[in-house]
Amino acid sequence: MDLDKLIQDRIRDVSDYPKPGVLFKDITPLLADHVAFAGVVDTVVNHYGRGTVDKIVGIEARGFILAAPVAYHMGAGFVPVRKKGKLPAATYEQNYDLEYGTETIEMHTDAFAPGDRVLIVDDVLATGGTACAAAELVRRGGGEVVGLSVLMELGFLNGRDKLDGLDVHALVTV
Ligand code: 5GP
Repeated sequence: MDLDKLIQDRIRDVSDYPKPGVLFKDITPLLADHVAFAGVVDTVVNHYGRGTVDKIVGIEARGFILAAPVAYHMGAGFVPVRKKGKLPAATYEQNYDLEYGTETIEMHTDAFAPGDRVLIVDDVLATGGTACAAAELVRRGGGEVVGLSVLMELGFLNGRDKLDGLDVHALVTV
């Protein structure tokens, strides 16, 4: 099976999660398949190239799982962006809108050296609110956002439109 097909095959649709009416894309079957998981990491690393960025930002929680091996293979450091209250030292916070209510994510203020080139990694790009807030945190921290890499883009939600022309690399788009 080619990688595109394998990735699509290993992402499972779960109805009514986390709430009624939502069709959730569950990546756990992909993570459990070492060929699919390694294929995803290798594709991202080859797309950008080893040594092209200084830091990989992973977004809690599924973004961490993809971002850490990407950071290792790209020869970059790993920086976590977490939900509010989870990081121990001084942070920048960024609020963003959800369908109902708001969410807050944080990043350590000293995560970057000035001018660090930063790639943001997450599992799914949906409405774009999370990625947009993460990019804002990187800029506030003095980093230069070179792109966003996601395993899956839900194209019908037009998340890219929120990202002000940021380069987005999606392994699969639905
Ligand atoms: P957005 O802010 O773009 O609407 O949502 C993206 C964030 O929510 C990502 O951090 C992603 O992990 C999570 N997310 C939203 N929808 C899904 C989904 O269907 N599947 C998975 N795995 N994550 C999702």
